[in-house]
Amino acid sequence: MTDSLHNLLARAAERPRALARPELAALLAVEDEVGLLTLFDAAYALKVRCCGKRVAMRGLVEAGNVCAKDCFYCGIRRSNGNLSRYMLSADEIVRLAELDARQGYASLVIQSGEIESEEHTRFIEDVLRRIAPLDLGVTLSLGEQTEAVYRRWKDAGAARYLLRIETSNPDLYATLHPASHSWERRVECLRALRRCGYQVGTGVMCGLPGQTYDDLARDIEFYAEMDVDMIGMGPFIPHPDTPLGTAHQAPDAKHQALVLGLKMIAVTRLHLHDVNIAAATALQALAPDGRERGIRAGANVIMPNITDTKYRRSYQLYAGKPCLDENAGMCKGCLERRLAAIGETIDYGHRGDSLHYRRRTRGSASLPEENT
Ligand code: SAM
Repeated sequence: MTDSLHNLLARAAERPRALARPELAALLAVEDEVGLLTLFDAAYALKVRCCGKRVAMRGLVEAGNVCAKDCFYCGIRRSNGNLSRYMLSADEIVRLAELDARQGYASLVIQSGEIESEEHTRFIEDVLRRIAPLDLGVTLSLGEQTEAVYRRWKDAGAARYLLRIETSNPDLYATLHPASHSWERRVECLRALRRCGYQVGTGVMCGLPGQTYDDLARDIEFYAEMDVDMIGMGPFIPHPDTPLGTAHQAPDAKHQALVLGLKMIAVTRLHLHDVNIAAATALQALAPDGRERGIRAGANVIMPNITDTKYRRSYQLYAGKPCLDENAGMCKGCLERRLAAIGETIDYGHRGDSLHYRRRTRGSASLPEENT
């Protein structure tokens, strides 16, 4: 462990956005065990300072796998014929939202493949209006839409929107998508979401073929430049039925992907301080305790899957998706035990809004007691 690592961590913890890109890249390049522990401990201490020893929960509804996009890495891409396509009915989504409220999670994420149509827009509006009486903090993750559609969904009750940029490097983005997919449009969507008044989330996949530490450092700078409130990022895990499913994998690829995912969480926490950061399910696909390790590396949000088990196999974005046969009740008990083992509790009954969002919209400056 070097003095320079201690220096960087001390400077980063002192104030947000203190590090330059080469310094972020240097933290991401830490590989020795003592250095990694030091990095994760510093990020976790900051997480506790900003968010307390509490984890915010959002039940995740995988509303459908019909998708107009053909991303080269994604298991539900349009060209994958090896899965049956489904879309939950409005009644099914409302039932899951009620289950989410009964679980005490207070927040809900509705995610699906990307559909742009008036019929779909109205369908989501209807669902949002029907679940409004439950008073949940609702996040949508429904891909690229027009600003008018984002506004209609906001008016119907959605509070947050998660749209990953996937990578902040447009050249790398072009190698991962067909030419018809536009990185610029994704950035413009993030700006539109901000104009509509959402708590805005973005994120990237880490460990993509051809991605460098400098790219990942740039991703963290992108989060800062876009001034986002929430980060949902995770390791890239190849899916066999996709063009990137056969990307070269080192023998210890899983371990490497997990550690890189944890480092991205840690360095993002250290650079941005008060944003919500999710410990992605993809971490759990790489190690059974992946999400707890994400919390110990600086994340403060977990999104347990509450979708009926009969649909889960048809929503596999990557290989090895966990909890295919575990219902929402089993997930809840399992998570409680796992989080208690690391001294964390589930923040039942609180929406867990992003502290960053509350500050930028209210101008408040105080720390953890605010996050109640
Ligand atoms: N359609 C919405 C959108 O485009 O934002 C949400 C659904 S999309 C399937 C959710 C996220 O899954 C993507 O943003 C991507 O980062 C992630 N994902 C897809 N394939 C993946 C893979 N092979 N490994 C890790 N994450 C993956």
